[in-house]
Amino acid sequence: MPNTNTTKYTAKEELPDLSKHNNHMAKCLTEDIYKKMRSRQTQNGFSIDNVIQTGVDNPGHPFIMTVGCVAGDEESYETFAELFDPVIQARHNGYKKTDKHKTDLNPEHLKGGDCLDEKYVLSSRVRTGRSIRGLCLPPHCSRAERRKVEEISCKALGKLGGELNGKYYPLSKMTDKEQEQLIDDHFLFDKPVSPLLLSAGMARDWPDARGIWHNDKKNFLVWVNEEDHLRVISMQKGGNMKEVFTRWCQGLGDIEKHMKDLGREYMWNEHLGYILTCPSNLGTGVRAGVHLKIPLFSQQPKFEEVLKKLRLQKRGTGGVDTAAEGGTFDISNADRLGFSEVELVQMVVDGVEFMIECEKKLEQGQSIEEDIQQLKQK
Ligand code: ADP
Ligand code: MG
Repeated sequence: MPNTNTTKYTAKEELPDLSKHNNHMAKCLTEDIYKKMRSRQTQNGFSIDNVIQTGVDNPGHPFIMTVGCVAGDEESYETFAELFDPVIQARHNGYKKTDKHKTDLNPEHLKGGDCLDEKYVLSSRVRTGRSIRGLCLPPHCSRAERRKVEEISCKALGKLGGELNGKYYPLSKMTDKEQEQLIDDHFLFDKPVSPLLLSAGMARDWPDARGIWHNDKKNFLVWVNEEDHLRVISMQKGGNMKEVFTRWCQGLGDIEKHMKDLGREYMWNEHLGYILTCPSNLGTGVRAGVHLKIPLFSQQPKFEEVLKKLRLQKRGTGGVDTAAEGGTFDISNADRLGFSEVELVQMVVDGVEFMIECEKKLEQGQSIEEDIQQLKQK
């Protein structure tokens, strides 16, 4: 709840000190914009101070340039457009207010990707988020709203059949050991230790109404009420990204159908695509990635440059807040908005193939200079 005394002071007096900050919000928030937005709030009562709190508290991130602001509800992106628009533009490759987002969830459109070399690709994964229209997002939802999200999700997920038939496991009923095991196996989100999550208010009431739904094979999983209402994940060991993507598209489509049957729809519009909590995930919300073992290539001085050219990002294998170990990285698409789902997964497939070729050459003592030089910016 915003402190109502702030209205007694000027925008200048209330402006956060962002002089040492390195996130998109800090770069876009001017005194003028702050001043304009101070008197506003969404119908659900989300203010500009709520929007920026996580970015004020967290000046930077050791591995990735963070966004530094979140939405509390669907309306936030409209109400605080003066801040969100430039942040979205900066984070999403110049994506303009007039641009329209495209969707392609047809796995047949993906070329290759069914046999990435398993000597290097340890596992493949695709995830996205979805938000249920009419309910506040995790930074701002009330306890009852959060429980409503869980209830609706469980109903919809309960209708999945065949290979996707599964069960919901609420965090509150899990033992610490069971939870640890799921985290260690990369199936479950981490406990809310990330300061980004904490400052954004997403860990309130933890573990109430949080949980994981998964099928028996544990290759189709849905997180409930972590950073987004829903996170839909398909994953498996090895390098068959095509199979992972196909199952993911199928499951996503089925869940949406069951949501509709329940009279529910997702937050979505033509410009922003699927609306999610963090502006970095708008559009497709897709992060397709592999755990890639490239001990030689990752030591190359041009590793970062190549990632950039391929429009990929790296993380540690334990997730966003972890460092890589033993030359194995989580390599995934850097973009979410302005490209379709298929295009993003294709970038990962093609980019990973390129990096594997480089690794093989380095193993044989060959140079990869020319390969890198010929690489075009995607
Ligand atoms: P997300 O983008 O889904 O929030 P995080 O970086 O927070 O991803 O990681 C969430 C969990 O998913 C972590 O346990 C991480 O190890 C696991 N994970 C991510 N990508 C892969 C992958 N390709 N294979 C196996 N596990 C993965
Ligand atoms: Mg995460």
